[in-house]
Parts: sequence; C-alpha cells; structure tokens
Amino acid sequence: MRIQADVKLLKYRRTKIVATLGPSSNDPETIEGLITAGVNVFRLNMSHGNHESHRQAYGRIRTAADRLGEPIAVMADLCGPKIRVGDFPGGSIDLAAGEPVTVTTREVAGGPGLIPSQYHALNSDVGQGDRILLDDGNLELRVETVSGTEIACRVIAGGVLSNHKGMNLPGVAVSTPSLTETDRVDARFALDLGVDFLALSFVRQASDVVELRELITSKGAEVGIVAKIEKPEALDNIESILDAADAIMVARGDLGVELPPQVVPAAQDQLIDLARVYRKPVIVATQMLESMITHARPTRAEVSDVATAVRSGADAVMLSAETASGQYPLEAVRMMNDVARQTEGYLWRQGAFGGLTRKQEQAPPLSVENALSASMAQLSRDLRVRAIMVISFLQGHSLAVMSASRPAAPIIGICPDHRTARMAGLLWGVIPVTVHGDAMDNPHQMARSTAVSLGMAEEGQSLLLVQGFSIEPKKNTPSVTVVTV
Ligand code: PEP
Repeated sequence: MRIQADVKLLKYRRTKIVATLGPSSNDPETIEGLITAGVNVFRLNMSHGNHESHRQAYGRIRTAADRLGEPIAVMADLCGPKIRVGDFPGGSIDLAAGEPVTVTTREVAGGPGLIPSQYHALNSDVGQGDRILLDDGNLELRVETVSGTEIACRVIAGGVLSNHKGMNLPGVAVSTPSLTETDRVDARFALDLGVDFLALSFVRQASDVVELRELITSKGAEVGIVAKIEKPEALDNIESILDAADAIMVARGDLGVELPPQVVPAAQDQLIDLARVYRKPVIVATQMLESMITHARPTRAEVSDVATAVRSGADAVMLSAETASGQYPLEAVRMMNDVARQTEGYLWRQGAFGGLTRKQEQAPPLSVENALSASMAQLSRDLRVRAIMVISFLQGHSLAVMSASRPAAPIIGICPDHRTARMAGLLWGVIPVTVHGDAMDNPHQMARSTAVSLGMAEEGQSLLLVQGFSIEPKKNTPSVTVVTV
C-alpha cells in the first residue's frame, strides 16, 4: 500500500473559522484580508480594549463584509467573573516554592509575600487545602488558614507573578455570578452595536445562560448565546447548558487550568459529540496555532490539533492571540483554512461524512430531528445530490438539524435576510445565501435557480429541498423534497 498524504480539496470548507480582532488586525485592510482568507465569525473580546475600540472594529467589520458581499457574523465575548490579582509597585514579585505568602482581599498594593486579590469574596470562598492557581496555572499556592481578609498560603509552584494576572480556583464553588455587572453593561453595549452572538464566560449552570437570555429579551434583541465551557461544573451540567444555549465553546485555556490539561482532549471529544446530539454548534478554542503569534509557520503539533478538531466534527475552530495581537494574523487564518480543507478532503476520501455521532448511535429511539437529519444525509448520498437546499428562518432550526448529521453534500442555507444568514455562520457545512421576498413563494423554483446561480447544479442534476423544522412542536412540520434542475 502507498500512503497518499495529499488529497483532492473540496470546493467549500465545511468547518467554520472564528478569529479574534485586536491591535494586530482591527484596521480596515487587515479585516478585509482576514475575510478573504476565510474568517466566518469575528470575536470582539470584551476583556481587552474599550467600548470605543470595539465600536470602531464592529463598524469596520460590517463595512468590509458588505464590500465583499460575505455574511460575516460578530460575536462579543463577555469577560465574566475572571479573578485577577492586583498591582505590585515594581510590576511583579517573585514566589519561591515552599515559602509562605499571604493573599489579601484588602485594597492594597502587593509586595514580597503579599498578593492583593481583586476578588473581594475570595476569603469566604476558599478554605484550608484549596488550591489557588495564578497566571494560567503556571504558579500554584495551597491555602493553609483563612483569617478575616488574610489568606495564608504556601507556594507549591513558584515563579514571577506580575500585575493583574488571572487567578483560578479549581474545585472551589465561586460565589460571584457568571454574569457580572460589567458583563451586563458590555452586553447592552454589544446588543446596541448589533452583534450576532454573545459569548458568556465561566458558565457553571443553565441558569447563567437563562440570565443572559433575559437581558437580551428585555432589550427586544435576538442574538445567539455561546456558552463557554471552562469550568468543571459546566461539564457536570452540560446537558442543561446545551438545552439553554445556542452554541458552546470548548474554552481550553481556562478549562486546562481548572482541570489537569491531559483530561481536556477527552472533554473536547465528548463535548463535540454531545453538542451534535443537541444540534448546537461547537467551537474549539485557544492555542490552536499559538506559535504563530511570533512565527510565520505553526508547529506540526498545532497543525495536528486543528486537524483533530476538524476530524472530531467541530463546527468551528477559533484563533485568539494569533489574530488579535500576533505578528501573523493573515498567515494564521490561511493556515487554519488550509489545514481544515486538507483534513476535510481526507475525510471525504474516507467516506466519513454523513451519519450519526457515536452518542446518537447508542441512544435509540432518536428524536424526529436526529432521525430525519441522519436519513436526509443518507438520502443525499444515495441520490448523489449536488446540494441540500434548506429554507431557514432566524433561529436556523432546519439548518441546525441538517448540519448535525454532517452530510456529504454542501448545505445551502436559504435565508430571508442578512441577519439570518449571519446567524448561520457558526454551523458546520452551511453556506448561507440571502434570497429576498417573492422568490420564496415558489420554493422549488427558487431552490433550482439558487443552486444554478451558485454554480452548484446543472440541468438534470438533483437537489434536496428541506424545510419546516421548528422548535415549537405544533409548527414542526418538516419536509424533504427531491428537486431536479
Ligand atoms: C479560554 O479560556 O480558552 C477562552 C477562550 O477564554 P478567554 O480567551 O476569554 O480567556
């Protein structure tokens, strides 16, 4: 047998790309370049920048997307209750393993042996034996005693601790809400801008998502909520979180601090499978091409990481500092695009597209949605249809159903307006197109002419036309039609 590493690429990439904007990339020219290179969704990270810089970036994204005629979505990522240390007069202190150190909730400057915490309920949340991780888990303290505002600790893993580094408390039930006051202000601001998705950090339970949903509804807005899975509690409550949210993100940065990093791949794999069962898009995030922050080419291990996420069936892969503050934002997106396309070409050759997830196979009887999704994927394969045309409305329910079984044929999301098309931006394999007004009155004809105008089908070739899925049981009247061009 001969190993054939190179494969024929598919015409359309199925896995979506999310890129974080920041100082390296938020100028108009780079934003256009990033869209051309393959970005589907831009992430505005509320942990950095300010409202003015986000407003400017948002405006530039919309201008660039309109100019290029691409349905680009914007996701505002709320910082959540990220716990940080305070200031040190010299900018940092040294912590040596074995030494005692005090963490205080008083508002004071730190110094040798003293670490101020910006989180003022820390002293009531932690107790003897708890671990306090600093700077993404590079430094570790163990709590010995708590006395009023002072938490006496022992340094387990030492190093340099600088101003405002993050603090993680694995296994500690943190009393602060997931949606902080700052998040509420940022969420209202982002809704006024017109973003398509809000990402919620440090989600622990479904009620965190519901709280954000209430805020969104009270503003009369309709945006998707992405629940960031980065706390062990979220893994325990994942099914109810998937029910409440519109999408999830495997936020491996904090998840790999809260949990031992070696368990994150297994968590990622299961989260992807389960999200597909719930027909909710799943984004794999953080350090995917980390070395490209400073190098024009990734490590081979990073390429494999992106390929693994694609092979596991993630809807989207995300770039963070690579595009926000790195030296090679365009190269990072091009590389992600290339790896995804190459991997998808390989999966195609293996006949791997289309079918149920491992979890779905184990759990009959299936829901109407999952059963039909799998059958439609099989039908599209048996008939060798050129495309699956799905008529979609704002919630994108029919599209999510079709995308969940990862069919072999491209899925064309026929959307009545640009906003619906953008909301489809996170769904695996979906190519959103906007079809206005009267054309929708004759769906068969519209499906034919849309496929032909996209260059996807010629006379005599077949399409599937899917419509009618709804989350409301009485309105759920799904249908699938075979249409010949
Ligand atoms: C993460 O922790 O992986 C993540 C995406 O969150 P953030 O970048 O907002 O810290």
